[in-house]
Amino acid sequence: MSKSDLYPVDPAIAARAHMDSAAYDAARVAAREEPDRYWSEVAKRLDWSRFPTKIKDVSFDKADFHIRWFEDGELNVAYNCVDRHLAERANETAIIWEGDDPADDARITFAELHEQVCRMANVLKSNGVKKGDRVTLYLPMIPAAAYAMLACARIGAVHSVVFGGFSPDSLAGRIEDCGSRIVITADEGRRGGKKVPLKANVDEALKKVAVDTVIVVSHTGGAIDWVEGRDVRYEEAAAAASPECPCEPMNAEDPLFILYTSGSTGKPKGVLHTTGGYLLWASWTQAMVFDYRPGEVFWCTADVGWVTGHTYVVYGALANAATTLMFEGVPNYPDVSRFWQVVDKHKVDIFYTAPTALRALMREGDEPVKSASRKSLRLLGTVGEPINPEAWRWYHEVVGDGRLPIVDTWWQTETGGALIAPLPGATDLKPGSATKPLPGVELEIVDAEGRPLEGAVEGGLCITDSWPGQMRTVYGDHQRFFDTYFSTYPGKYFTGDGCRRDEDGYYWITGRLDDVLNVSGHRMGTAEIESALVSHDDVAEAAVVGFPHDIKGQGVYAYVTLNADVQPSEDLRRALVAHVRKEIGPIASPDVIQWAPGLPKTRSGKIMRRILRKIAENDVTSLGDTSTLADPSVVDDLVRNRAQSQ
Ligand code: ATP
Ligand code: MG
Repeated sequence: MSKSDLYPVDPAIAARAHMDSAAYDAARVAAREEPDRYWSEVAKRLDWSRFPTKIKDVSFDKADFHIRWFEDGELNVAYNCVDRHLAERANETAIIWEGDDPADDARITFAELHEQVCRMANVLKSNGVKKGDRVTLYLPMIPAAAYAMLACARIGAVHSVVFGGFSPDSLAGRIEDCGSRIVITADEGRRGGKKVPLKANVDEALKKVAVDTVIVVSHTGGAIDWVEGRDVRYEEAAAAASPECPCEPMNAEDPLFILYTSGSTGKPKGVLHTTGGYLLWASWTQAMVFDYRPGEVFWCTADVGWVTGHTYVVYGALANAATTLMFEGVPNYPDVSRFWQVVDKHKVDIFYTAPTALRALMREGDEPVKSASRKSLRLLGTVGEPINPEAWRWYHEVVGDGRLPIVDTWWQTETGGALIAPLPGATDLKPGSATKPLPGVELEIVDAEGRPLEGAVEGGLCITDSWPGQMRTVYGDHQRFFDTYFSTYPGKYFTGDGCRRDEDGYYWITGRLDDVLNVSGHRMGTAEIESALVSHDDVAEAAVVGFPHDIKGQGVYAYVTLNADVQPSEDLRRALVAHVRKEIGPIASPDVIQWAPGLPKTRSGKIMRRILRKIAENDVTSLGDTSTLADPSVVDDLVRNRAQSQ
């Protein structure tokens, strides 16, 4: 692994932080030893119509498997995210919307948010939606997406947000899986200057699965087909609806939403989160990990179609009365300095994005970053994949001018919010490490037989106890929930990720265990070799997989994307092999390097190594579920070039 230099906590940040290192240490102990007392105290950050007296009731054992938090508590998520802020902040900005076109933006106050959520809730009610019903949302990144989520929460309906970039087939599958009878969409979305035909996609999807109602928000005003009796014009219905709607009191364990995982490793799972534990985790982690205070502008670049958007664009942020920025566009439109222009325009305090975006921007050099001042920023964050130390340093030095801490947050759709992450006032940083578990997160690294490993070790990452934000089931398939997460290592939640713990107790995600390579008996995570490749000056991005090798068992097959101005050559190929040998050792040196102008990624930007493995193995007839791929043509290119490069 690259040299793990330490970036100590800035004492000025520690002095004002919600948690400094002493508070963090104390919270770790309290959450472990007295979870009921600790979480009951933390639960006071929410407004409950009935405060819970039962806090934690959990067993991961097969015979008595159950997960319940705050089970006699009663609250409403929309009340917590909107209504309770009205007394003091009615006229403060809840949502800053930045359109795909830099000329489009809007600011929505808490008072306006309240009215919009109520109107949307009443439109849902008048279309027959009741507590417990599932509502599918297929929307662009516009404020109406937040209104719709909160409107469902207000009346106790369960939303299933489907990312607007998904195809009609993917949408149909998700509508069918959760059995929703209603879809909320928009005429069209906009991304990178192009229009996304959302309503047309819904029409197409509904040839495969029937619903009663389609509510259509007008966004671009583009022409759409209309099905009388099924389609409802949102603006007309909302104008006729009351601007007041009572909040349905919900039990803490009532479902809040269903969200399908990214599908990096296979068929997406319908992850179900509940009301109390999820909201608490979302709110508490947003405050602690980002050290958030009202008045600051918080920008999480994720789409609300992903859990990151659910937790940090909408629920966690708004529960804390944050000013949350919703961005409809993409990092490279109109040009590659867009992120930094938006930071300056809206005076963003906290910026949170994915390594895939950073690597793409890094490829374009420093100038687009330097062209903006970024002086409003005080904290950076990342999520979604391991961040290569090289990209971490670029983020810190170029974007952060060497002055901003980076919170690398490890979590999953299943976990509801961040689980491993530094706290800005408590944790010294190491580039490439998500650092340490949050209070209440009990990690274990296990060997292949599930035996816990002590000290500085590498193995499978498990979690031995529950935390409030844990998912409660796979929608409609509780057995799959148990089998997927609790049967591999009985009594533990298995994350599916590989992880190394260093001598300081820092955690380093090494990639997905399914992707681990076994070269001549040495097990290696993908992240390490990829980071070594990316640390070469000419490399923008890399993905590594194993392939059958007569002598070594598995060989190392590397797909490499070069920087914008670099041409592939035999010399460069040799230089990269030598570079990996020097950085890690001969055991990791790639047997094959294939130049890859693009890598197959999920719509959320994660590399799908299982497809790369198939190509490396020359087994391209059965690529598995590719429905969540961002750009399927990348795969065809790689298959074609493989033939040439062998
Ligand atoms: P599926 O479960 O359908 O295969 P997925 O795992 O990609 O899809 P998500 O829940 O969106 O779906 O992603 C969670 C995974 O993302 C984690 O298990 C981990 O592999 C990776 N990940 C997220 N954040 C980080 C991080 N900060 N560092 C390293 N890996 C991360
Ligand atoms: Mg996963």
